[in-house]
Amino acid sequence: MLRINDISKYYGKIPALSNISLQIRKGICYGLVGPNGAGKSTLIKIISSIIRDYTGNIQFSGNDVRLGYVPQDIALEETVTARDNLQFFGKIHGLSGKVLKDRSTEVLTAIGLEAREKDKVLTFSGGMKRRLNIGCAIMHNPNLIIMDEPTVGIDPQSRQYIFQMIERFKEKGCTIIYASHYMEEIEQLCDEAAFIDKGKIVENDKLDHLLEKYATPSIFVKGKDFLPQSIETYGSIQAKSGGYILTTSNPLTAMGAVLNWCKEEGRELERLELVKPRLEDVFFSLTGKQLRD
Ligand code: ADP
Repeated sequence: MLRINDISKYYGKIPALSNISLQIRKGICYGLVGPNGAGKSTLIKIISSIIRDYTGNIQFSGNDVRLGYVPQDIALEETVTARDNLQFFGKIHGLSGKVLKDRSTEVLTAIGLEAREKDKVLTFSGGMKRRLNIGCAIMHNPNLIIMDEPTVGIDPQSRQYIFQMIERFKEKGCTIIYASHYMEEIEQLCDEAAFIDKGKIVENDKLDHLLEKYATPSIFVKGKDFLPQSIETYGSIQAKSGGYILTTSNPLTAMGAVLNWCKEEGRELERLELVKPRLEDVFFSLTGKQLRD
């Protein structure tokens, strides 16, 4: 869908992005993940042609790229209705008459605000404003939708609603670029991701490859008379929540060893679980930093 070639950007003397190169395939949800100030918004604004003074270039494949940009800061006129906001953005994209009216109705349904179409935006909750903000960006039926932290400051229901919208965009064949500092959102939504830190790409790949490459799986074992020494040859052990976490490159063998030991020693187990590696662990392994609020 697009290829980003060697992009660098300075704000005055401050380097915001350094030599960013990425390739984003059609039809996927691509995550840009990194702490606040990493450069995600700057990259998104460059892709969306909002920032034009940078070095490097971006190539879009084909002539039929319709780009929809959902800004991090809500860009709505609060003193008018939801429908008026949608129509305003529709008109900017050249829609008019019945087409504009019908498309506004369609988008109101897609963002779940059809019952509130005649209400002024200033009466809306944060989550409703976020949904309308997305609605305005999709009035022209884009096939590349770029979202900058679209869930900041909203309730869990609205967040889930936005996630369902993104799934529907994907089902329709849209490509999504999704920037967030919430690792669990990237995990839930994205097929591939780039980790950005201090203006540089630290790593980018399919999510399962990233997890395989950088995050070591672990198991959790808990039992009244369980002795951690019985599995210490399989990896490193840490006491946690009344049990033990064993970090090991061979979790299934270690689980088998736990079961065998308990059977042979006649000990009872309370819990034995495989702990899935998380993107958070990948980021930590790459940067030595936790990515949290
Ligand atoms: P993110 O979206 O990951 O939080 P940004 O792209 O907003 O990161 O910011 C990257 C860096 O560029 C930060 O150091 C930020 O302070 C700086 N920056 C962003 N916008 C401007 C601006 N308009 N003027 C000066 N510095 C900026």
